[in-house]
Amino acid sequence: MKEYCGVIGVYGHKDASKLAYLGLYALQHRGEESAGIISFDGKKVFQRKGQGLVSDVFGESDLKKLKGHLAVGHVRYSTTGSSTVKNVQPLLINHKKGYIAVAHNGNITNSVELRNELEDAGSILQTTMDSELIVHFLVRDHKNNYREKIAPIASRLEGAYSFVIAINDAIYAIRDPHGFRPLCIGKVGGAYIVASETCALDMVQAEYIRDVEPGETVIIDKNGLTSVKLPEKKKHAFCIFENIYFARPDSNIFTKSVYLTRKSLGRALAREHPAEADIVMPIPDSGTYAALGYAEESKIPLEMGFVRNHYIGRTFIQPSQLIRDFKVKVKLNPVRDVLKGKRVVIVEDSIVRGTTSRGRVRALRQAGASQIHMRVSCPPLISPCFYGIDFPTKKELIASNHTIDQIRDFIGVDSLKYLSLEGMLGSMMQPKEEFCAACFTGNYPTNICKPPSKKALEKTRCTGMDR
Ligand code: SF4
Repeated sequence: MKEYCGVIGVYGHKDASKLAYLGLYALQHRGEESAGIISFDGKKVFQRKGQGLVSDVFGESDLKKLKGHLAVGHVRYSTTGSSTVKNVQPLLINHKKGYIAVAHNGNITNSVELRNELEDAGSILQTTMDSELIVHFLVRDHKNNYREKIAPIASRLEGAYSFVIAINDAIYAIRDPHGFRPLCIGKVGGAYIVASETCALDMVQAEYIRDVEPGETVIIDKNGLTSVKLPEKKKHAFCIFENIYFARPDSNIFTKSVYLTRKSLGRALAREHPAEADIVMPIPDSGTYAALGYAEESKIPLEMGFVRNHYIGRTFIQPSQLIRDFKVKVKLNPVRDVLKGKRVVIVEDSIVRGTTSRGRVRALRQAGASQIHMRVSCPPLISPCFYGIDFPTKKELIASNHTIDQIRDFIGVDSLKYLSLEGMLGSMMQPKEEFCAACFTGNYPTNICKPPSKKALEKTRCTGMDR
């Protein structure tokens, strides 16, 4: 399962691109395939984009060339459109009224219909990304004022979007009415920053001000910060998986601490599913905070039975299945002296296909663990995500077609228990109605008539040119 994208925008700082670069460093976990920054100095637009990690794409000399007081940046894992150079964001277009640079996190679920509509009307699209659609709508609508254009365009888009868009000398931060993906606002000195997660604000010592509200467009320009609300209100559907797995634990997501939420999930897990064991251990890194909560609640000592090797993986080969398998093997090393003869509770954040967990359990047995009890800090994943996370298909999700006992036997543990849906929702620090939990329930908060696939926009097009 892959993370999706991270976005950032900086306005009103003489080193805007450097702040964007540092912010992208903090958001690297949200997308490791490509990175880009576009900056503007009031007259000229500058850009640097490429495939790879932030550290691969930008050198010191690149940042010097990215001049200006405005910058937008993006790290990407492709959720719609394949991983090609052409699809690296921010997407930049020039037209007679200036330039538009788009950084997008999320997935527009009616992108095929909208693309067909645009092409029927004569638009020629350059990429296979759903993110490009908004550019065409912005240019096609001939009203002068972009502020007025946003609401009617946003009402055409379905699904998940947190956009950071630079249009000439302004940044537009737009969040869909359901609020699937996070987007926060901070301030450093006189400069404003918008970013996917608060860890990006911390990186540049910006003070958190507030979130961009679901259905809100925040406009930042030389007059400061103003806001436009979409007329139509929709039921909130914050992605609960941000809290469980995707977001960084040092971030606040949807205004609440990810670290504390994960601990609370672990506590609920211990109450629901106690185990007779000598030690509790996490699967690092994302299971660590739930394991802390489990250990505290159960009073079983926490040990780090796995040590993570941080020096693996090169981003540009990340999408390859071959490398992913390789990474599973080399990523975590069991500590024999901690595990030998011990009854172990391992805390996982989630189980997707089950193959990764199986490999880890085998390694723990080889290291001498006498019993292994797996506890998972969310319910079984049974349905794919159409809102910007690259889940496997339903067929590949082990819990969609196996019982819990079958999964236990496949993974090779002595017992396997998942946190209940009520336990998960009750561990959040907001009302449970605020969240999307469709991957656990199959109840999607929007109409998904025809589930879009990652490469839905490529089916009728030649995509071989830039490979
Ligand atoms: S389906 Fe799951 S991963 Fe997708 S937005 Fe909803 S909670 Fe998040």
